[in-house]
Amino acid sequence: MAKLLEGKPIAEKIKAEIKLQIASLKSKPVLASVMVGENAGAMSYVRSQQKAAENLGIEYRLEILPSETCQETLIEFIKKLNLDKSVNGIIIQMPLPAQIDYKKISQFITPEKDIEGMHPANIGKILFGQTKLVPCTAASVMELLNSTGVDLYGREVVIVGHSEIVGKPLALLLLEKFATVTICHIGTSKAGKLEEHVKKAEILIVAVGKSGLIKGDWVKQGSIVIDVGINRVADKIVGDVEFEGAEKRAAYITPVPGGAGPLTVTMLMRNLVRAAKLQQ
Ligand code: NDP
Repeated sequence: MAKLLEGKPIAEKIKAEIKLQIASLKSKPVLASVMVGENAGAMSYVRSQQKAAENLGIEYRLEILPSETCQETLIEFIKKLNLDKSVNGIIIQMPLPAQIDYKKISQFITPEKDIEGMHPANIGKILFGQTKLVPCTAASVMELLNSTGVDLYGREVVIVGHSEIVGKPLALLLLEKFATVTICHIGTSKAGKLEEHVKKAEILIVAVGKSGLIKGDWVKQGSIVIDVGINRVADKIVGDVEFEGAEKRAAYITPVPGGAGPLTVTMLMRNLVRAAKLQQ
């Protein structure tokens, strides 16, 4: 039976390191969180970020703009935050109203304050092995893997899902560690080749958002399974991997919820402190 790879104890260790780093800063770091229109889903993320920031001694400035805010006004607002020396990091809360294109506006956050690690300049740096401001979910997965003590060198890693926030940056981070990386996506599934790839994975990372996509008996014996997916099924939160079958075969497996999720906010705070240090 697999060992559970829980995010919370890892997050606690990293929080202790973050506190030490904050103590060495000249002033309390400040995170500006921009929300356009109030949204219940976004508010629950905001509350968990607020709580995490408070516990670490980070100032969390929530800026709520009216829901009818246009793209140009939001860009001007971001530019002001870029110039505000008291602000160390900026995040834009999702979802955004239809008139705003996240990909466009996120590029206006100065790379030094881009604590979600989504600016093309920060994504580009990963290509060159510079991993200071990395997308938070990808960083969470790397921490989960790190906690197992496994050496990634030459390992057969299969990532399912090629989004900009998870699959793609993760592939680059794993390449830096000399893992052999295969990225599967919708094309792999449509070609009927997903099972064949998954069965080879010594390390399997799934970030799709489809419950039951990965069958338990596809999981390789003794492998590490990181399930990033979040799906609501009959009032329960489940991942993308059939947990019961997979836990009998894997050596390590993340629970859903409780795996990558609890680490993501901590990664955001770690990025903030890194940004503050870089700005100093
Ligand atoms: P996206 O929708 O952006 O990406 C999903 C990816 O899965 C895409 O690459 C898509 O390919 C691919 N895909 C879709 N269907 C299939 C299929 N049948 N077979 C193989 N690949 C497929 O989602 P995100 O990356 O933002 O999130 C993925 C999941 O992770 C979601 O459940 C989300 O809730 C969760 N998540 C969890 C976080 C956490 O902290 N735990 C943080 C972020 C996300 P294509 O685009 O080509 O269709």
